[in-house]
Amino acid sequence: MCASGKIILIGKRVGKFLYLVYNKIKIILQYYNNMAKKRQERTLVIIKPDALNRGLAGEIIHRFERKGLKIVGIKMIQLDDIILAEHYAHLVDQPFFPRIAKFMSEWPVIVMALEGLEAVNSVRLLTGETLGRHADAGTIRGDYSMSVQANIVHASDSIENARKELARFFKPEELFDWNCLDSQAIYAEGEGEEDDDE
Ligand code: UDP
Ligand code: MG
Repeated sequence: MCASGKIILIGKRVGKFLYLVYNKIKIILQYYNNMAKKRQERTLVIIKPDALNRGLAGEIIHRFERKGLKIVGIKMIQLDDIILAEHYAHLVDQPFFPRIAKFMSEWPVIVMALEGLEAVNSVRLLTGETLGRHADAGTIRGDYSMSVQANIVHASDSIENARKELARFFKPEELFDWNCLDSQAIYAEGEGEEDDDE
C-alpha cells in the first residue's frame, strides 16, 4: 500500500474512533440529563368541594405557591361517577364509596397541576394524612380539616399515579411549560441537576 493509502486508512480509523467516542459521550450526557429531569416532577392536586364551600380555595393555592411549587395547570371542573370510579378505583368496593362519589360530584372542584423537584412527595407532605383531625398541625389537612371525607385536598401519592391522574384530568395543551422567574430564588443553582445536594 502506498503512503497516501495508509494515511487515508489511518484517517478513516481515527474518524471511526472519534465517532464512537462522540456517541458514548452523547449517551452519558443524555443519561445525566434524564436523571436531572426525573427529579423535576408534576403532581395532581384536587381542591375538594368542602374547601370551595368554606372559601378556602385561595388559601390552599397560596400555600402551594408559597412553598415554591409552580402551577403548570389549573381549572374548575365538575366530576361525574365515571371519572370518580376511575380516580378512586382503590376504594370503589368500600361501603363509603357512594358517599364520597356523591360529595365529590355535587359541587365543582379545582384541579391543579404542580411542578417542582420531588413535587409528588413534597405535596403529600404539605397535604398531611387522610384523617384531618389526626393530621399534623401545619399541614393543609391538619390546619383546616376535622374529617376523613371532607379533607380539603386530594394529592397524588406516587410518581406513577401522578402521571396517570394528570392525564385523566388535563389535556396536554392545558399544561404549560413556563419559566418561573422566581425559580432562581427557590432553588440553588444547578440543584436537581446533579447529585450534590443530598
Ligand atoms: N376516604 C373516606 N373514608 C375513608 C377513607 C378515605 O371518605 O375511610 C376518602 C377521603 O376523602 C380520602 C379519599 O377517600 O381523601 C381517598 O382515600 P385515600 O386512602 O387514597 O387517602 P388520601 O390519599 O386522600 O390521603
Ligand atoms: Mg390517595
